[in-house]
Amino acid sequence: MNILTFDIEDWYNCDFITPDLNWDKYEVRIYEGVERILQELENRRLKATFFCLGWIAEKHPDVIRSIHMQGHHVGCHSYQHELTYDLDPKSFRYNTEKSKKLIEDLIGESINVYRAPGFSITKHNTWALEILVELGFEYDCSLFPAAHDYGSFDSFGKAEPAILKFSNGVQIKEFPINNKRILTKNFVFSGGGFFRFYPYWLIKYWARSSSYMMTYFHCRDFDPKQPMIESLPLVRKFKSYVGLSTSFVKFQKLLNDFEFVSVDNADKLINWGNVRVLQV
Ligand SMILES: [Zn+2]
Repeated sequence: MNILTFDIEDWYNCDFITPDLNWDKYEVRIYEGVERILQELENRRLKATFFCLGWIAEKHPDVIRSIHMQGHHVGCHSYQHELTYDLDPKSFRYNTEKSKKLIEDLIGESINVYRAPGFSITKHNTWALEILVELGFEYDCSLFPAAHDYGSFDSFGKAEPAILKFSNGVQIKEFPINNKRILTKNFVFSGGGFFRFYPYWLIKYWARSSSYMMTYFHCRDFDPKQPMIESLPLVRKFKSYVGLSTSFVKFQKLLNDFEFVSVDNADKLINWGNVRVLQV
């Protein structure tokens, strides 16, 4: 099973580029970025899940409206890309509820799927998952079962859909990011800088030998014209800008070679009675 997802944020909507959250001064590139993706999916009659920032819903509502009008599955990706482990439970609840409502008011439907910015739900802040259940989310796609600059949840075990069950009995369906285990290390290849970095033949080889793939793309992953921040530390600069000029063609090849579904359609294909139940 291969799942197609996008995180809908502009090139400046992340803490390492703009820690001051004063975002109105930056060049807006999200419209053309989303339009390019939507056109590609429409040509292929493909449906995907789009995790949107509440801030985008507030400032650029037409972006979210166009995603929804094309029949895609719309989810929440926080309000202003706040990393979950930087928040206390009260502010996480406040920001998530605010973002969920902004998006729901815009599309006229309730939303049921969440992804934390930077995969920032770890084994140390699983209270965030319980709050998601309380706010009405059915699915979470935030767990990253490998090493990551931000969040990682390496105790998750095999990276495939599972049910997370809390001590109070409530549960949420988890769709983690997939990885490829080679010797003792887990390699991620299905989105962001990892997808831009590895050659396509290797991504295809890894994807062919995986029974589950969860992609995560951003408009900036495909945008060589985005403003480059020269002052970024070298490693961060490399991770942010590697492979930008070839990534959209790689993305098209991936869509040619594999079949994809959105999270809500994947849910219908899974026999949840047979998946792992993890106590968290
Ligand atoms: Zn993000």
